[in-house]
Amino acid sequence: MKNYYVMTLFPDMVMNGLNTSITGRAKEKGIINFEAVNIRDFTKEKHGHVDDYPYGGGAGMVMQAQPVYDAYKYIENKSGVNTRVIYMTPQGKVFNQQMAKELSCEDNIIFLCGHYEGIDERVLEMIVTDNVSIGDYVLTGGELPAMVMIDTISRLVPGVLNNDLSALDESFSENLLEYPQYTRPEEFMGKKVPEVLLSGHHANIAAWRKEQSLIRTKNRRPDLLDG
Ligand code: SAM
Repeated sequence: MKNYYVMTLFPDMVMNGLNTSITGRAKEKGIINFEAVNIRDFTKEKHGHVDDYPYGGGAGMVMQAQPVYDAYKYIENKSGVNTRVIYMTPQGKVFNQQMAKELSCEDNIIFLCGHYEGIDERVLEMIVTDNVSIGDYVLTGGELPAMVMIDTISRLVPGVLNNDLSALDESFSENLLEYPQYTRPEEFMGKKVPEVLLSGHHANIAAWRKEQSLIRTKNRRPDLLDG
């Protein structure tokens, strides 16, 4: 069983998203588990605040170290001391399919979601093992990035997809985009399914798909072929 812990100020957002569809079913089947831990539950501040003004001035608020650290300690008790802690940040290494594949081997992962202007650097230095971004743009919080990562990683865990083979020849495996897909009917508004897919000839179908993958990658993502 893979356990994903999400440290967040918005646990409902994370749980509602992940409980839906394939990740939700994988949790019901006991293949993966995810738990959103509300950082606010750990504040010692009497009004329940978890953020304060930045030292040195500047726009926005910064999440304080204490509730983040205590929430981490609570999770560490369950997940063990060597669990990777991934801070979702636009300043991190950009997430990709290869990283997802590596992380799908981990039994426990903690995702730390920032909000506002981010989190006090001192606690990040103390607990974070990896800084990861989902792309070169800035979101309001780390919840969507953590959900993107958990969704991508989970579907590489054996048993999560109904057919584990479907993750094998998808886009980005072998640095290629996937070939075009078709389903019934055979003809839609005058447009026909490519003849070869109806032939039942497996070798020809595989060759056609490989060729389409190459053409599509060359047209849409030539940078992938550079590798
Ligand atoms: N002030 C920060 C900076 O310039 O690096 C950005 C803070 S952002 C408004 C608030 C939180 O959203 C971050 O702490 C991070 O957890 C999350 N976040 C925003 N963009 C992200 C991205 N591209 N990838 C991962 N997390 C992101």
